[in-house]
Amino acid sequence: MGIPGSGLAKGLAVTLRTMTRKSHTAQYPDAQPELPPRTRGVIGLFEENCTVCMLCARECPDWCIYIDSHKETVPPAAPGGRERSRNVLDRFAIDFALCMYCGICIEVCPFDALFWSPEFEYAEEDIRDLTHERDKLREWMWTVPAPPALDPRAEEPKEIAAARKAADKLAAEAAAAAAQAAEAAQAEAERGSGGTDASGTANETENETENETENETENETESGTESGTANGNGAAS
Ligand code: SF4
Ligand code: SF4
Repeated sequence: MGIPGSGLAKGLAVTLRTMTRKSHTAQYPDAQPELPPRTRGVIGLFEENCTVCMLCARECPDWCIYIDSHKETVPPAAPGGRERSRNVLDRFAIDFALCMYCGICIEVCPFDALFWSPEFEYAEEDIRDLTHERDKLREWMWTVPAPPALDPRAEEPKEIAAARKAADKLAAEAAAAAAQAAEAAQAEAERGSGGTDASGTANETENETENETENETENETESGTESGTANGNGAAS
């Protein structure tokens, strides 16, 4: 049997001990809580990525995602191609009065259109205002934190490896084409300088021929004149 009043003394000791320690209670809303970056506060929609596949709405256990869409015909990308049809989003809404924040919709979205935001201050007086339409869901996107950095020792994703391989191949092809073009330009330049020499030789040959012809004509004329003169002189005498 214990000493009478020992329980009271123990309780007082605990009270005195904790009174001297710093309190961990956050005085919200005067002090904002420091939430982990991946907190499940609200869901943001990145509309550009949504293909209206309806997977999130089908998988949601609470049936609180509402999607409306219509089909549009897209003309063929190239002449002679086939027309395609695509889904166009008309409405995307989430009822946060029903949502149980399980995150299934975000997990199953195959196109990365849904994200968790740590924002939690969206309490409403009217429960109907807890249904957030696409514009409101888009606004939450600006509060979605950046994804965590990749582990430097992690294996490179297949998509990045394939993209790098394709980029290397393109760069090698471009370098080979540039080298080929440079070789062709050099060969053209060499052929051009060879053509100038040939024409120079041709000009020289032409000039020489002309000079020779002129000289011969002059000599013949002079000798003809001289002999004519000589004959004239003889006749006169
Ligand atoms: S978090 Fe869960 S309950 Fe909420 S919308 Fe997504 S799937 Fe539905
Ligand atoms: S699963 Fe993703 S892509 Fe499909 S409808 Fe939902 S948000 Fe859009």
